[in-house]
Amino acid sequence: MTILGRFIPTILRSWIRHQVMRGDAVHCPVCDKGAIAYLPSGSPPRPHVLCPFCGSRERARMAWLFLEERKVLRTGLRVLHVAPEQCLREKLTVLPGVKYTAGDKFTPGYSYPRGTIDLDITAMPFANDSFDLILCSHVLEHVPDDRRAMSELHRVLAPGGMAILMVPIALDRATTDEDPSVTDPQERIRRFGQFDHVRLYGRDYVGRLKSAGFEVVEDAMTDRMSPAEVFRYGLLRSEVVHAGLKPVTVPR
Ligand SMILES: [Zn+2]
Repeated sequence: MTILGRFIPTILRSWIRHQVMRGDAVHCPVCDKGAIAYLPSGSPPRPHVLCPFCGSRERARMAWLFLEERKVLRTGLRVLHVAPEQCLREKLTVLPGVKYTAGDKFTPGYSYPRGTIDLDITAMPFANDSFDLILCSHVLEHVPDDRRAMSELHRVLAPGGMAILMVPIALDRATTDEDPSVTDPQERIRRFGQFDHVRLYGRDYVGRLKSAGFEVVEDAMTDRMSPAEVFRYGLLRSEVVHAGLKPVTVPR
């Protein structure tokens, strides 16, 4: 296929999508565009999930709202983006003066955007205090040694920095359900919610983050919003933002 042959349909598809989908029933906070609806996605498909323009999902939209509300997005940020969501990558890489690093644990059979490095978050090749902002959402539930990962994330976060560490969490559970002997995909789906999850976190998740050294912010953002706002931003009421802070220590 020629370059033009590849290029024109892409532009046309995008143009048609914009013409068909633009509206004001919902408003994506990531790409700041209004649409007639969020598109269904998932397996089985759930309604009201995908932004038709930037491809954001509920948790990316919530994380972005949180970062904007807390005024985290300043000039010259050093950002580590683990398992990067494309919609957030596009926003972060254009911040003025940003130093952006994207990493993912490479798995055979999958491809990764150019510039992404193969990253094991339990042993990262970065100096202490390297990043002002870390985004690592919906990752820790896949990592067998999550305590070591949390400790590494804390080590590479600079004092005064913030790590967004959202995970699926069962708020009706006091303690995390985990059992390394469960490797059968069907049993993992039943107990942990997905075939490649190694645990289902409970309310003790905050304690685990604190044990790694973080000061923890737990923000059920949708509790502060009207039902109309939750719908418009396309958020999940079951989703809570967990952010780990590394306070600046003042020498005595
Ligand atoms: Zn969007």
